[in-house]
Amino acid sequence: MKDSFGRTIDYLRISLTDRCDLRCIYCMPAEGVENIPHREILTFEETARLVRIMAGLGVRKIRLTGGEPLIRRDICSLVAMIDAVDGIEEICLTTNGTTLSDHSVMLRDAGVDRINVSLDTVDRDVYKRITGADRLDDVMRGIDTAYGLGIPLKINCVPIRNINDSEICSIALLAKDRAIDVRFIELMPIGCGKELNGILSDEISAMLAERFGDPKDAYDMDVSSPAVYHRFEGFRGRIGYISPMSHRFCERCDRIRLTASGYLKLCLQYPAGADLKTPMRNGSSDEELADIIKSAILQKPRAHSFSDRDATDDRKMVQIGG
Ligand code: SAM
Ligand code: SF4
Repeated sequence: MKDSFGRTIDYLRISLTDRCDLRCIYCMPAEGVENIPHREILTFEETARLVRIMAGLGVRKIRLTGGEPLIRRDICSLVAMIDAVDGIEEICLTTNGTTLSDHSVMLRDAGVDRINVSLDTVDRDVYKRITGADRLDDVMRGIDTAYGLGIPLKINCVPIRNINDSEICSIALLAKDRAIDVRFIELMPIGCGKELNGILSDEISAMLAERFGDPKDAYDMDVSSPAVYHRFEGFRGRIGYISPMSHRFCERCDRIRLTASGYLKLCLQYPAGADLKTPMRNGSSDEELADIIKSAILQKPRAHSFSDRDATDDRKMVQIGG
């Protein structure tokens, strides 16, 4: 499936819920968001049907996200349904990790290929300040369990000035003794992120080079993600940088998003997209839904422009899925 700029779209990120057990300051307001009523959230059968239709149009990789995707009861049955879809080559999950330890075996057995865990600090007090919850030990146990099972893992950290800037080296050290990639993601001015001061990738890499020396490898571009990576001497895992603010990567964008309520979103920043739930519930055929998706893809914006804050989607990150 090609968009109007010739980009191949083969990656679908599915938000399974707008609910979450954490309240990360850059993602979710402390009072929470008004949750979508349960009846408005796609059922697993509806989600799997849309995956089947999109696989027919060329989608090859799926990421399950949220809110917190592991909050969806019986998520592994959805993973198994997606795993059975012809054409889907990879199923990934992004989680805050609080219940990963309990889910790891089932996720692996159901067909999850890789997991990203979001973790911004290894200090218990800083963790509580960022997330509003005392769950750091649970997350670390989840990482240990999933890694022990051989599931490829990445850790995603959002550096924020005066919040976790003293934690950057400690987070990077998670890539030292284990083959886990640690990635630093620039804070985006979406939802609650507008109120905070993110730290750009160049400053993070300078901070790390000062502590760990010059990186062993040159920067290495990962074709399947917007990250660039390098490795420090003595580290088993790589350090990655995702820089939507300082190094826009939209010309390589390969993704679309499906919200928990069945809205096909074409760009993280802009609201443009198509409601798939209403026509699906009104009896549209697979062919009709495929036509709606194909014409929506042609509306995919060329690039984000976070300086244009007025054009930004009103949805919070917890409602989009990152
Ligand atoms: N709850 C899961 C988690 O935390 O991994 C999945 C959903 S969360 C919205 C997905 C990712 O978005 C997380 O890695 C989070 O750090 C990131 N995120 C949330 N708000 C952000 C913002 N304003 N800028 C950059 N990343 C953000
Ligand atoms: Fe929840 Fe993930 Fe958002 Fe944190 S980043 S509030 S864990 S959805």
